[in-house]
Amino acid sequence: MTTDNVSRVDELVPSRYAVQVGDIEVLVISDGVLPITARTMATNADPVEYRGWLKDNFLPPEVLDWPLNVVVVRSGDRTILVDAGLGVEFPDFPRAGQTVHRLEAAGIDPSAVTDVVLTHLHMDHVGGLLTAGLKERLRPDLRVHVATREAEFWEAPDFSRNVMPAPIPDVLRRTAAQFLDLYRGRLRPFETEYEVAPGVLLRRTGGHTPGHSIVRLESRGEALTFAGDAVFQPGFDNPDWQNGFEHDPEEATRVRIALLQELAASGEALVATHLPFPSVCHVAVTGAGFRMVPAVWDY
Ligand SMILES: [Zn+2]
Repeated sequence: MTTDNVSRVDELVPSRYAVQVGDIEVLVISDGVLPITARTMATNADPVEYRGWLKDNFLPPEVLDWPLNVVVVRSGDRTILVDAGLGVEFPDFPRAGQTVHRLEAAGIDPSAVTDVVLTHLHMDHVGGLLTAGLKERLRPDLRVHVATREAEFWEAPDFSRNVMPAPIPDVLRRTAAQFLDLYRGRLRPFETEYEVAPGVLLRRTGGHTPGHSIVRLESRGEALTFAGDAVFQPGFDNPDWQNGFEHDPEEATRVRIALLQELAASGEALVATHLPFPSVCHVAVTGAGFRMVPAVWDY
């Protein structure tokens, strides 16, 4: 069967995964995968050591498939979309940008979304909000939550510490500017913490970007954190390996280690943007680093 025979709302693999956190309903949706040069994932790693790590993890040495996950959270009377995927502005990445039709396949009409939370304004997190097919179907009174510091940063973004190939910095600048133009009137900026809905707490971490934020869900003694880009696949074994997208790599490393330590101590669940779908896992301490322990599929 070719993909042409499968309608986009009826895919062979539905690419969504439901998790309950007490009374809060969570749906992890894969936006797809996009290619990333392996080096971008660990810019300060010793090349020989990094090649060994890639081989040990059955990953190719040059270009990786980077998973891209978004989350829909239902709590109280709110339906909250956390990040929006890559969108379709980038024809070079045809396997990502699937959020719009995967929401539809999950029975979620964009007009039912009351709130959007953005962990940060990189294109793989806001691009979906720029796409025809989504932006005009969102309700006029939509609330878009983003850290004040993040919106300010993108007025004049600093890429001096990033390590990423051209033309990515320009594309990131352009996408963030488009997003701010389009959604400025609906922004609900927050400083350091904000409770969007019962048990849905945003917390600014900084690091990856100055306003990078994570989302902690807590209900009836259960908890799950959506970590955005605070944690990447190599970051468990080697939390000090820096990612080229990090605007402040040292601060990003501190944020990553603190979060992994916190989750290892609490035993709370973790979901992150760029961990292999559905990415629901727990964190264990091992040697000098950490270990990602996938949650058991329970359907
Ligand atoms: Zn990202």
